[in-house]
Amino acid sequence: MKKHICLIHAGGTIGMVKGEKGYYPKEGYLETILDGIADLKSDDMPLVDFYEMSPLLDSSDMAVDDWNRIGLEVAKRYDSYDGFVILHGTDTMAYTSSALSFMLENLTKPVILTGSQIPLCEIRSDGRDNLITSLLIAGSGKINEVCLYFGGRLLRGNRATKMSADGLLAFDSPNCPRLAEAGISIRYLPFTSKEESNLPFSLCKLESVPIGVLKIFPGISFPIFDTLMTEKLKGIVLETFGAGNIPGEGHTLLPIIKKAFSAGSIVTVCSQCPQGTVTLGAYATSSPLVSAGAVSGYDMTTEASVAKLYYLFSKGYSSEKIKELMETDLCGELTK
Ligand code: ASP
Repeated sequence: MKKHICLIHAGGTIGMVKGEKGYYPKEGYLETILDGIADLKSDDMPLVDFYEMSPLLDSSDMAVDDWNRIGLEVAKRYDSYDGFVILHGTDTMAYTSSALSFMLENLTKPVILTGSQIPLCEIRSDGRDNLITSLLIAGSGKINEVCLYFGGRLLRGNRATKMSADGLLAFDSPNCPRLAEAGISIRYLPFTSKEESNLPFSLCKLESVPIGVLKIFPGISFPIFDTLMTEKLKGIVLETFGAGNIPGEGHTLLPIIKKAFSAGSIVTVCSQCPQGTVTLGAYATSSPLVSAGAVSGYDMTTEASVAKLYYLFSKGYSSEKIKELMETDLCGELTK
């Protein structure tokens, strides 16, 4: 029996047209373009129903409520389809795929985000392959998690990151093997699939709690951030050097982190390096972070760390529990 896939259009370049101020997503437009793609009617394709969200967004405009809107569209149709493909802008696609991987609890079906760097209506668009291959993968029965497909690569959603602003191989997951590669054929690579839960699928909507990301750079003056890192900021992702290092053995930052932590903020240490892991304590420039109450993000992307903080705060857990879970692999987002 043919699989039945729901194709949800949330916005992004794939369905954009050029206006006076630049590209924008045009409502009602993509469906007319899809009608003209003969491959979508091939016998090899799954059955596809198209649904366009409103408003369509450039993904730079997306925030937590838009993740909730997308999650809700999937949840409403969850029982009626074998899988979902979500058309989305590339700029924040890795944030949305990370967020959905936490929000869609006990997921047993594929949810694949894709888009393009060149609009479908333009010559040389990468959207056609990204769309068709995503639909084929969603209909393959081989995937049961949130993924991102782009430029021939199927990536775990909460491991993906945008690597190129203009290349067609725009995404990768440097800390996690690709789940599949599409060349002449689609090759599914050996990977540990998410453990299937017996619990019913549910949607955890996220609350827009205040989260901050602070990128460390040489010469950073931490006292300036003292006024920002108050109890008002619930979660802080520190993008540190290499394996979790900060300048000056953190003498000026640590009191700020201590204060933030005792006020209930969770400080998560990630690396600026796309590849590799944080190892707190490997250097004298990182060990004080632990005593100040920071947690290790290990090899999590900033995108996944931000989404995970939103998720854990939305679950209403205590600070201690959030600290523990930030360092725990919940759905394939980190390797210890
Ligand atoms: N600004 C666009 C977006 O993220 C870029 C893209 O889709 O490639 O919606």
